[in-house]
Amino acid sequence: MTMSAKRLELLLLVAAVCGAAAGHKLLLVSFDGFRWDYDQDVDTPNLDRLVRDGVKAKYITPPMLTMTSPSHFTTITGRWVEDHEVVHNMMYDAKTNLKVAHKLTLTRSEWWDNGVLPLWITAQNQGRKTASFHFPGGGANYSGQAVDRVLVEPLDHPDDNETEWRQNIDTVMSWFTEEDFDLVTLYYGEPDNVGHAKGPDHPDRKEIVRQIDRTIGYLREAIDRHQLNDSLNVIITSDHGMTTVKKRPQVEEIILNKYLNLLKLASFEILDYGGFGILTPRPGKEQEVFDALSKAPNLTVYRKDQIPESFHLGKSERLPPIVVVADLGFNLNSRFIVYVNKGDHGYHNGEMDMKTIFRAFGPDFRRNFLSEPFDSVHIYPLMCQLLRIEPAPHNGSLTVTEKMLLHSGGSQVSAPGSVTLLLLIMFNVL
Ligand SMILES: [Zn+2]
Repeated sequence: MTMSAKRLELLLLVAAVCGAAAGHKLLLVSFDGFRWDYDQDVDTPNLDRLVRDGVKAKYITPPMLTMTSPSHFTTITGRWVEDHEVVHNMMYDAKTNLKVAHKLTLTRSEWWDNGVLPLWITAQNQGRKTASFHFPGGGANYSGQAVDRVLVEPLDHPDDNETEWRQNIDTVMSWFTEEDFDLVTLYYGEPDNVGHAKGPDHPDRKEIVRQIDRTIGYLREAIDRHQLNDSLNVIITSDHGMTTVKKRPQVEEIILNKYLNLLKLASFEILDYGGFGILTPRPGKEQEVFDALSKAPNLTVYRKDQIPESFHLGKSERLPPIVVVADLGFNLNSRFIVYVNKGDHGYHNGEMDMKTIFRAFGPDFRRNFLSEPFDSVHIYPLMCQLLRIEPAPHNGSLTVTEKMLLHSGGSQVSAPGSVTLLLLIMFNVL
């Protein structure tokens, strides 16, 4: 071997190690409302193949407040809901009675930016290029910083257009290959939409899961086509599960106004929104509201200052003084039953119907690895490790998830040391 060939070989080796030091690329995909067991009564060849080719968790547990915005924001920040303060799908202000519908909040930074930095911004601050495709929270600015590339879901965006789903994957692939993005988060509004409209046991839910499975097959083909197999890690997850809403005459539905005069006793409320409700009692009426709701069947009422610590909600400043959680499947109707959903979430995160999925594959993941269940808050440090970035303060722990990595252990950002060592060896040889 001539000196120059040897030199080239070493340079290539150094380049390879430097590449590993920078971390691979990462795609985080969320299919909203994908209950942990949705693949068990449907033929899902592509999800099944993922089990062999990567990592599957039996299920994962979303944070308490099993709703879209709070849960997605826990995934992307690694913070509990009480810390990141995105405490509802709706933006609200209990003092002014402002209420903003979920989709309209997606670009309202004042709702999302509460001093906690999501992964996009932390990664960008460490030299990575990031993008958000419809992912909740991606459309806001954080301490004045925007995500490098953002697509926000339009108001009239259809949730279930399979052709568009594939186009979105093509777009994301081009971001990775042509524009060298390091992190992309990609969001789909299904199977949540069908779960709400038809209920989790409806045949249409099975059909949308088949569509998701085909889309995952398409994603893997696209990764192949773009030669990203060795450089792209993929995490597929979701924000919460779904349960069948209990209706009369099978059950007596909750109507809160039967137990307390809402107009007289509360100055602010968000009810008629599934299993999670919030109330601000009028001055001096706190005890009366609490006592009245304590007597109502099929729900649990909490004073904010007495919320169990395990909920990780009680420290929130935004949450009003009274929080109501309905028993699984009950809706918190306020005055009348105007509620039409056949499926819903927002219930206690200990309920199996609220659990959701976690799958991962790519160069850093083990194959055929079944992980025990874990809390979704731990996905954040895993993503930081995959991107080789220093995490912002968070509530997760890498020890929970690092077993699923091929080369686990060591400190968070350890690779630069090995590069230095290799360079020294190289100079020695040359
Ligand atoms: Zn959701």
